[in-house]
Amino acid sequence: MSEQEIKLHGQTFEQWVKELFEFEYCSECGGDHYDHVANILLGNWFARCKIADNPNYKVRSREN
Ligand SMILES: [Zn+2]
Repeated sequence: MSEQEIKLHGQTFEQWVKELFEFEYCSECGGDHYDHVANILLGNWFARCKIADNPNYKVRSREN
């Protein structure tokens, strides 16, 4: 089973992370759901910043 298919509390990571970043960006990297990968922490979804895994990763610029 891939991470995309796993559901925690009835939500896939995709659904959860889109809600998480629907109205605000990540306080750590300034990114949104495209800039994060799925992690499971204590039975809950956790959005790990891609930039934390790869310092060369650039958060997509958003002019506006
Ligand atoms: Zn982040």
